[in-house]
Amino acid sequence: MDRRHFLGLSALAVGGVSAMQLKDLAQQARDAGSGPRMPSLFIGHGNPMNALYDNAFTRRLGELGRTLERPKAVLVVSAHWLTPGATMVAVSPRPATIHDFGGFPDELFRVEYPAPGAPEAAHKAAAAITSLKVHEDHDMGLDHGAWTILRHMWPAADVPVFQLSINWGLSPAQHHALAREIAALRNDGILVLGSGNVVHNLGRLNWNDPAGPAFDWAEQFDAFVADRLATGDHAALVDYERLGSVARMAHPTNDHYLPLLYTVGAADPKASLQVLYTGMEMGSISMRCFQLG
Ligand code: ZN
Repeated sequence: MDRRHFLGLSALAVGGVSAMQLKDLAQQARDAGSGPRMPSLFIGHGNPMNALYDNAFTRRLGELGRTLERPKAVLVVSAHWLTPGATMVAVSPRPATIHDFGGFPDELFRVEYPAPGAPEAAHKAAAAITSLKVHEDHDMGLDHGAWTILRHMWPAADVPVFQLSINWGLSPAQHHALAREIAALRNDGILVLGSGNVVHNLGRLNWNDPAGPAFDWAEQFDAFVADRLATGDHAALVDYERLGSVARMAHPTNDHYLPLLYTVGAADPKASLQVLYTGMEMGSISMRCFQLG
């Protein structure tokens, strides 16, 4: 056997492992990532004032931050960063705290959440998405969908955070498909966090009886999501508009629903489900939070 032929064979079989198996092992090593493997979270953020409140919801967030393995970075998809026609990733090393609301007390405008950004993880996320071009945003800070919950989870603001925008031109199925592309980042210690609300209809807030029962359509939609999560029926969650008027009442616009499709898209349908928090506020906001994987 000549040397070239021998080398060719040795590439095909090393210690009884075929080239195909070697390729599979290499792929598995890449899939395994650098760890730790992080879950995929959905947090219903609700009222921005939760940033300041000490209540059952914010205490649950605090507990979550203390019990989760510490991520290397958090990738937030928030209902409050909508970008028409483009998918953006925030690459600022020092993201500013954005007070993107009006009509709240000065105390809320004074809150700062000085967590570092995660440019390296952000570049990794952009590279993982190959179905479309992801544009870098060097100025984007943290919107209130991110910082009002993160300050309870990691009060020391010492976990790096970056945001991926919601491309306001994609269908629910396209958002879900995009999330499939970033799923493997979870193997590299990146926590995927969707921040919206399972039911969100600001036009129907019940100001007369804020602690009263939720509207029937709100309960129905919340139950639909709870049930499809429990059975791992992610396709039904993508196709939520099939519910017709119930879906339209729960989400007159779907900015607060789409982050949920990132949470489920970044997880396997067979992933374990943990319901972290449930509750309705003012009749038309579901505070349901959950963890997959
Ligand atoms: Zn919101």
